[in-house]
Parts: sequence; C-alpha cells; structure tokens
Amino acid sequence: MHGNESTTTRAFLDVLNFLNHKHELANELLQHLTITFIPQLNPDGSQLFTRVNRNGIDLNRDALEMSQPESEVLRRVFDDIGPDYCFNLHDQRSIFGVGSTGTAATLSFLAPSANLSREITNSRAVAMQIIAGIHDRLNSLIPGGIGRFDDSFNPNCVGDQFQMQGVPTILFEAGHYAQDYDRATTRKLLFYAFLEAFCLISKSSFDQFTVHQYFEIPENEKNFVDIHVFNPHLIDPKAGPESVLKLQYEEQLQHNNIVFAPKYLEATSGSGIFAHRIVNCAIEQDRNWISTHSLL
Ligand SMILES: [Zn+2]
Repeated sequence: MHGNESTTTRAFLDVLNFLNHKHELANELLQHLTITFIPQLNPDGSQLFTRVNRNGIDLNRDALEMSQPESEVLRRVFDDIGPDYCFNLHDQRSIFGVGSTGTAATLSFLAPSANLSREITNSRAVAMQIIAGIHDRLNSLIPGGIGRFDDSFNPNCVGDQFQMQGVPTILFEAGHYAQDYDRATTRKLLFYAFLEAFCLISKSSFDQFTVHQYFEIPENEKNFVDIHVFNPHLIDPKAGPESVLKLQYEEQLQHNNIVFAPKYLEATSGSGIFAHRIVNCAIEQDRNWISTHSLL
C-alpha cells in the first residue's frame, strides 16, 4: 500500500514461485491454506515511488474514511473472502534499531492493537503467538536482528482495522541489513518468515508459543543513521574535533532508477546513535568518498 516499499512484494513473489514448483512443503501448505495476495495495492504510488497514492493520500491512514478507490478495493477483497488471517506488508527505513542493542532491525513485526487500551484480544493474541513462532525460527538466521513495532492504536490504519474485526493480523516490516540497500538479504529472510507463518498457521502449531515470548522481542527504536563521519574537522575547519557528522540517505527516483543520496541530518537531532557505515576523514579513501558526493 506504500508505493516506495517493495521488498515484501518481491519476497512474496518468491513465495508464489516456491508454491508453484511442487515442492513437498509447498504441496502440504496448499492442501491446508487458501492464499489471496494483492501484490500492489498502490500501483500509482509504486510508479511514482511515493508512499502516498496518486491523490496524495496515505492508504494506511484511510481505513475509516475509505476515501480512496484502493481502500475500497482492499475492503471489498476483505469482505468477499472473509480471511482467517491477514498479513499487512511494509518496508521500514534504515533508521530503526532493535531496542538499544546497536543491531539494525532487519525485520520487524507487530500484532496491531484493536483498541485504545491495547488490550490483548483473542485475535491479537493469535497474531502475537505467530510472530513469536516466526521469531523463534528466524532468530538464528539473523541473530538479534528482529524487532517489535510500536503498537499505538490508530483505527485509520489498515492493520488495526482488520484486528478490530477480530481477524488475527500481522504487520511485516522489511528493514535494513548491513550495506544491502537493495534489501536482497531482507527479501530472503522475509521469504522464510512467510513460509514459517504459513507452517504455523496450517498446523495451528503457534499454540506452543506465548504472548510473553512476543513481548520479549525488543521494541524498535529510531537510533540509526546510514553514515557517521569521524574527524570532519580534517576537511571542514568549522567542525569541532569532537564532532561526528550524521548522514542519512534520501531515496530519489531518477530516470526510473532509485538513487541513494546522502544528506546531512539536523545537528540538533538526538537520533542516530548508531550508524550502518563509518567514514573517517583521517583516511584518504574516505575523504575522496566525501568529495565525490560533494558533502563538505
Ligand atoms: Zn508502509
């Protein structure tokens, strides 16, 4: 539903390929599950590489008002099939870390709230158990790289709305891994996450996991930036010797390609304790990188 968030779509197409190839596990899953997949709810936003749709509306803030044709389509599919479970698929920016551990949140999950008091309703508990099961299986593949998303309630968000209808709903957030800005690693991990979720659902084996295990997954914090620049005073006399410059990539659509342009963050920003990459102006190669990008 957000046009500039494609990783889960790509990962789910991998799942469809897998299901189509008569693998033993695929056949078993298809005996038990009927899967309805909307690859792109917001194709205009995808083409323009924007979060919002062609009318400038965030579809994930339109679940109550239903002002957009895409929202109507989604609601109609929901009403027609009467799903037993829902997956709500997104990408999150590279600013998210798993708690204060200093590990990037490569995957994040949420069992959205169904009311203001964030009560653990039956459907929400099931969603939590499934997430705990996914975490249990995937944590060895990406140690400490799975976070829990903020559960503030907003009935205008699609996931919260479906959870309110009593359907266990899981938010999948594809996040950042090392220098993998194309998110190929994340895509692979998501493939496993989807299959694990299907296994847990098809066998009802999520029962062995608890709500408590879900809450043990650390909550995401906005504590990463893409780049820290050390020793900036060596090339910029205005920078103090102690200062560390923080840079964040801005994703731009240029000639049908996504370009990652490094930008300064406000000096007052308290975020960005951790960085995915360190650039040190005491090293010639790093100084060259900075001048190539005209950053100082
Ligand atoms: Zn999103």
